[in-house]
Amino acid sequence: MKTWLKEYILRYYSKFIIPEEREEFKKFKKYQNIKEYLNMCENLTLEDFYANKEDLLKIYELEDIDESEIINFDPDYAEPLRNKIAERIWKVHRDAIFINKCPICGTLARTPLAKQAPCGHRWG
Ligand SMILES: [Zn+2]
Repeated sequence: MKTWLKEYILRYYSKFIIPEEREEFKKFKKYQNIKEYLNMCENLTLEDFYANKEDLLKIYELEDIDESEIINFDPDYAEPLRNKIAERIWKVHRDAIFINKCPICGTLARTPLAKQAPCGHRWG
């Protein structure tokens, strides 16, 4: 999927993101925060981390964390995850997605409702 289409879908058709996908993203964010925290504290081992788990769970507003998920956490997963979501939306909701292009030159307008393209042409 082209980057412009992915960004367009996620920005203007986020209403099609399903709860499972939101959850997955939330979870990714949580582990990203923890991973950043661990990276910040050079001498803090995962063991220490777990010794202070109760406090940390409060700080990060977490209910619980899975150690294996922290260890296996892939910080580069954000983009594949966004791709996956955008591709599913495109597949399932194609009819509801309006790709707003300039009728003259075909460049993408900034929003689905825009009546002007980056080229300067106006319509509607
Ligand atoms: Zn144009």
